[in-house]
Amino acid sequence: MRVTAIIAAAGRGKRFGDPRPKQLLSIAGRPILEWSVTAFVEHPSINDLVVALPDDLSGNPPVYLTHAAKPCRVVPGGARRQDSVVHAFREVSDQTEIVVIHDAARPFASADLIGRTIAAATESGAAVAALQARDTVKRALPRSSSQPEAWIVAETLPRESVFLAQTPQAFRRDVLRDALALNVEATDEATLAERAGHRVRLVEGETSNIKITTPEDLPIAEAIAGSAAPVRTGRAGTGYDLHRLVEGRPLIVGGVAIPSARGALGHSDADVVCHAVTDAILGAACLGDIGQHFPDSDPRWKGASGLDLLSRAAGLAAGQGLEVGNVDATVILETPKLREHIDAMRRAVANAIGVDVSRVSIKAKTNEGMDAVGRGEAISAHAVALVRRR
Ligand code: MG
Repeated sequence: MRVTAIIAAAGRGKRFGDPRPKQLLSIAGRPILEWSVTAFVEHPSINDLVVALPDDLSGNPPVYLTHAAKPCRVVPGGARRQDSVVHAFREVSDQTEIVVIHDAARPFASADLIGRTIAAATESGAAVAALQARDTVKRALPRSSSQPEAWIVAETLPRESVFLAQTPQAFRRDVLRDALALNVEATDEATLAERAGHRVRLVEGETSNIKITTPEDLPIAEAIAGSAAPVRTGRAGTGYDLHRLVEGRPLIVGGVAIPSARGALGHSDADVVCHAVTDAILGAACLGDIGQHFPDSDPRWKGASGLDLLSRAAGLAAGQGLEVGNVDATVILETPKLREHIDAMRRAVANAIGVDVSRVSIKAKTNEGMDAVGRGEAISAHAVALVRRR
């Protein structure tokens, strides 16, 4: 199924009081528009995008639109938001089945919300993200025509039935075509679809999916961006470990017992790969290090398997809402050769972390006879892990 996203970014943000279009202001170092566009470019259900920009910008669009990872057309917007959507809709391919429309001023729509809105529109024809009212809802009337700013409560509405519409809003292509053809005033496309006689499904919105409307919204957006940053960028961590090699000890590397005359000396099973990967995951999650969580002075960890510690570290990261994106490790050992054991190590490490084996890379090298590792007195490992918000 082909899905096209329309990003409505042509507004001037009159309520903002800044001469620049507000969608070009930065949140956590990125323009608001880039946040919004990236959410759709990175979404697996989206095939292509059409972005409606202010006239003067559409001729010279920013690089994150011209070099996006998915086809991204730019059109000049119109006088009203709905005119911009009409301009953008003309660029939507006949092959597209679902069109999802989003306000550039909402930089934090989650992938889950985008996916649920698309799924609901696929089933019902039209769907809009919306938040059920939490506060008591009053309908009001102006006190008098001479005091249009003074309001008097006309009635209290049952808040259970009041929803505040957000974007994304998604539509079957024919439903959106009917809606836009109406050409009546509306602040969103769901209103047009209702007027055109279509049933519009509500999809539970997100409180973090704020619309940046006034300068007071910027600090709130910065705070949300702070917690959202790992979602979009991932966080990297490094790990390193070394154990001495002695006779009479088993050699466990990446959870695999390697036939060898000498093994790694340590309080636990002295598995350098597992220990380095454990530290990389803890580091990426900013959770300290292996010695802090599993101190060798604690009898609980005497003889502990490296795979067990690794699995506990992945669990600690999961407790922070983080999953492991991928791991890459290099083990350095002079002898024996590890090549034939690499796949078994990758499977064991992936299993301990709880990810597919395709996310775990392990490489083996020698130290060319140099230093303690090269003389066969020690084994060492380096690792990098990437974690991201689940
Ligand atoms: Mg160690």
